[in-house]
Amino acid sequence: MLTARELRDQIAAGALDPRVVLHELLQRISRINPAVGAYVAVDPERITAQLEERLRHGPRGPLFGVPITIKDNLCVRGEETACGSRILSGFRPPYHATVVERLLQAGAIVIPRANMDEFAFGSSTETSAFGPTRNPWDVTRVPGGSSGGSAAAVAAGAAVAALGTDTGGSIRQPAAFCGVVGLKPTYGRVSRYGLIAFASSLDQAGPITQDVTDCALLLSVIAGQDPRDSTSAPMPVPDYLAAVSQTARGLRVGLPKLPAEGLDGDVRAAMDEATRVLERLGLTTVPVELPHIHQAIETYYIIATAEASSNLARYDGVRYGWRASEFAAGGGSVEPSSAQRGVLQMYLHTRAQGFGPEALRRILLGTYVLSRGYYDAYYLQGMKVRTLMKRDFDAALSQCDVLLLPTAPTPAFRLGEKLDNPLQMYLSDIYTISANLAGVPAISLPCGFSSAGLPIGMQLIAAPFQEATLLRAARAYEQATDWHRRHPAISSVEQAR
Ligand code: GLN
Repeated sequence: MLTARELRDQIAAGALDPRVVLHELLQRISRINPAVGAYVAVDPERITAQLEERLRHGPRGPLFGVPITIKDNLCVRGEETACGSRILSGFRPPYHATVVERLLQAGAIVIPRANMDEFAFGSSTETSAFGPTRNPWDVTRVPGGSSGGSAAAVAAGAAVAALGTDTGGSIRQPAAFCGVVGLKPTYGRVSRYGLIAFASSLDQAGPITQDVTDCALLLSVIAGQDPRDSTSAPMPVPDYLAAVSQTARGLRVGLPKLPAEGLDGDVRAAMDEATRVLERLGLTTVPVELPHIHQAIETYYIIATAEASSNLARYDGVRYGWRASEFAAGGGSVEPSSAQRGVLQMYLHTRAQGFGPEALRRILLGTYVLSRGYYDAYYLQGMKVRTLMKRDFDAALSQCDVLLLPTAPTPAFRLGEKLDNPLQMYLSDIYTISANLAGVPAISLPCGFSSAGLPIGMQLIAAPFQEATLLRAARAYEQATDWHRRHPAISSVEQAR
């Protein structure tokens, strides 16, 4: 599969016909998707019509004719956007997310809807109301989550590149599990307008791609201030594509002491080897401290659930998507009794049936930590620890240019392995969530394979708005290795290549 950068160059040079590109991609999706479940749904006719429209009227921007896959929580006008949830099924947003709008203005063809954990709650894409996504390297394993559909599609050759979202690791961890590249931008670097909110102080959209250069290309297109998102930063957008061609020699890499509990031996060995590669490339390493990282999980699961519980209050069966069938307009199969017709009953039935178990758990947890009497003990305390973590990152990143960490403590786990054990599932976020709490940018890129042949990802973290530095360091590593050129060989994926 050509990368987005290669495709756009060949299309622009007239060497490739975007109709052929799209046709071949749609064929690969139809062959691969039954085994992998990377897409909730794909509508080839509407996508083809979109391309015809683009060919007639443009715009002919830096992604002209390049198909980009969109996670199911980024609004695409007129297309069903359900956030992996039954409660939003049937919801067709009347507007585009700003990131989608920017891709379209760049001439891209947007391909909805990549599968995801319900409301992005999860690390495995098993909580989607539309069924799980499977890891193309081993279909008995999860692709990570919550952007598992986006990452699996890119890994399996069923997407050229994709957008995901990351609240606590949802771009980076699936990128690591699927052997692709994923970047969570600085909080405020990319507009959240039209990103269906999970935790508004943590959410960011970003690229999941075949290589670092594509990450730079997509970030250049989606980054920048947006008057419709007051938390988007009024900062100029550097030329990230130019950044990846600059040398990384001399950059200082901070190696934090990490909680070793649960760190897989193969992941540890891959990180040691990655450190040696970076040193050989002329980067220097320095030990640094992130003293509060061991409190990251509890802090995150207080703040993120608190915000989620208030963001999810809007799904009431009135304004969006789905309503419990016994209260649906025109009636369900059963004629409601007058008591059932009460609006409170309608809310209760719609929410109890419309949300899956993980969403209900988070609404309960979040409501609890915000409730009177517990707010100070949990939410307020969580916010204080968050400030300490931000200071940890400021201090560590004053001694170095990037931090090097594993992305996840283990390679991809088996489907069902952690689904009934939320605490185990939450532990898989240990290395990713602190970047969201501190608001700093972070990238995951392939750095090896486990003895079972599963991809391993390494994570680089930089100071706020230093994505160009991240991309430079990541590209230097990528150029010196060939992990990103390896592709899964499951038969259904193989046939399609
Ligand atoms: N796995 C984390 C969670 O379940 C992060 C998810 C995300 O980044 N959306 O909350």
